[in-house]
Amino acid sequence: MRVSSDFLVIGSGISGLIFALKAAKYGSVSLLSKDKITEGSTYYAQGGIAAVFDEEDSIDSHVKDTLEAGDDLCLKDVVREICSEGPRVVKELIDNYNVKFSSKKNELDLGLEGGHSQRRVLHAQDKTGFEIETKLVDAIRKEPNISIFENHVAINLFTDNNVCYGAYVYDKNKSKILNFQASVTSIATGGAGKAFLVTSNPDVCTGDGIAMAYRAGAKIINMEMIQFHPTSLYHPYAKTFLITEAMRGEGAKLIDKEGNRFMSKYHPKKELAPRDIVSRSIDAELKASGDDCVYLDISHKDPTFVKERFPMIYEKCKSYGINITEQPIPVVPAAHYTIGGIKATTSGETSIKNLLAIGEAACTSFHGANRLASNSLLEALVCGDKAAKLGATICIDNGAPSKRPFPKWDPGEAEDPDEMVIVKQNWDEIRRFMFNYVGIVRSKKRLIRAGHRLDIVSKEINQFYWDFKIHPHLLDLRNLAQVADLIIRCAKGRRESRGVHYSIDFPMKSDILYNTELQISMVDRIPLNDKL
Ligand SMILES: Cc1cc2nc3c(=O)[nH]c(=O)nc-3n(C[C@H](O)[C@H](O)[C@H](O)COP(=O)(O)OP(=O)(O)OC[C@H]3O[C@@H](n4cnc5c(N)ncnc54)[C@H](O)[C@@H]3O)c2cc1C
Repeated sequence: MRVSSDFLVIGSGISGLIFALKAAKYGSVSLLSKDKITEGSTYYAQGGIAAVFDEEDSIDSHVKDTLEAGDDLCLKDVVREICSEGPRVVKELIDNYNVKFSSKKNELDLGLEGGHSQRRVLHAQDKTGFEIETKLVDAIRKEPNISIFENHVAINLFTDNNVCYGAYVYDKNKSKILNFQASVTSIATGGAGKAFLVTSNPDVCTGDGIAMAYRAGAKIINMEMIQFHPTSLYHPYAKTFLITEAMRGEGAKLIDKEGNRFMSKYHPKKELAPRDIVSRSIDAELKASGDDCVYLDISHKDPTFVKERFPMIYEKCKSYGINITEQPIPVVPAAHYTIGGIKATTSGETSIKNLLAIGEAACTSFHGANRLASNSLLEALVCGDKAAKLGATICIDNGAPSKRPFPKWDPGEAEDPDEMVIVKQNWDEIRRFMFNYVGIVRSKKRLIRAGHRLDIVSKEINQFYWDFKIHPHLLDLRNLAQVADLIIRCAKGRRESRGVHYSIDFPMKSDILYNTELQISMVDRIPLNDKL
């Protein structure tokens, strides 16, 4: 079956939703979501969105903080553009989409987070992502030009001669492959945190868009830059749950099991040091002590304030028997944000014609080598907005979506998968060695080991993929293996330590600035209509 529209948007987080809402003014939109529409990192974002609203603050200051965190790898023009556009697009969230940010005495209650020199984080208590996602979805449902396809997984882009015509999509409800044809295809599939055993990311974050774009020949950059969030809840029964940076902004202290504060050993800003430093400091403490976790303590603050400011965290921890107003929270670092991705401009332009990439799946070089807290929702919003404008121009130039038929998807002789245990085994294995060998602290030896393990696992995955019919878990696994390979290869290519990439073999920063860039060779490109 074929579905044709002016715009195909793959992903329904903040970037995909804002793109769809804006693009719908110019043409018809098909909006895909791998799961239910709200599922994605956006929904779980707690801390907030950074933008200059305070009179004491300035764009220059936001630019300076972003560049400082980015460790010289940011593109300066990109940083200035996104920081400058921030207040306008955030104001649109409030005025046009009814997003309600927390306020005090009728003024926005601006939060402070690590690496920011001013209070500039707009938040909705600690449920910022929930507030933004649900309000944008409300707007999407009212828009007649947008058709929503939940439980539809994009498998491969359909490209020819470096032009994108849409994507092959698996309908999980009917177990069928559909052809989505469009003038403009926008990848908004989020990050790849699931490649690591401990992650703050929800299950949909398997790096599908990055893997698809790579297979189609797009340029991918800086995939070694994976940001670890220093504080996710450590509990044997808890699925990873993030404890927002804003808690440290409000005075929470990091302590070891004896109650000793340790961050002053590592950085003058202590708990408010940039994320990479805090993550590495915790990693060093854990490696030295052999403990399973450290603790984040906010129990010295007024209990009413803690409950009002962090209601979600309070409830979640309580459900595991931890009263955060009285006792410290056990925490460990978790893979959190994919800084690298599909090489794109702030308008989403990629190296493939008619293919745009926005949000966490894209790399505009706004974050450089390290992302400043609350800057990712901002980037996704600004770039989603700008990309819709570019998409409209492309659409007008292209006229109606091309009628060119997609080559038929060829299921071959495939049968239903016999032993899904293979998927589980490989899934666990990849995520474990990625966490242990390609995590917060890397070395040449660890990367080589990870590469060897991945070669073995990838052979088995490919064999399984060829022999059996499409299954969503198999698609996830295949993409996970693909992004793991990109991360390992980029990490091997960076022969220095910079931002979130730290190697014990190359502990210093190089004088030469470079991006690690990967693009599949023509020889390796296999027909994308077939099971690869
Ligand atoms: C727990 C947590 C807290 C965070 N807190 C903050 C914060 O306070 N401030 C901040 O700035 N950032 C925060 N971040 C980061 C920020 O939330 C993300 O970077 C941002 O939401 C990404 O938006 P996105 O639109 O790119 O992707 P997402 O919101 O992740 O959405 C991805 C979408 O793509 C879909 N998708 C994926 N693959 C496919 C496929 N193959 N086919 C079809 N659909 C697909 C998914 O279903 C989903 O709809 C946080 C992240 C997490 C995980």
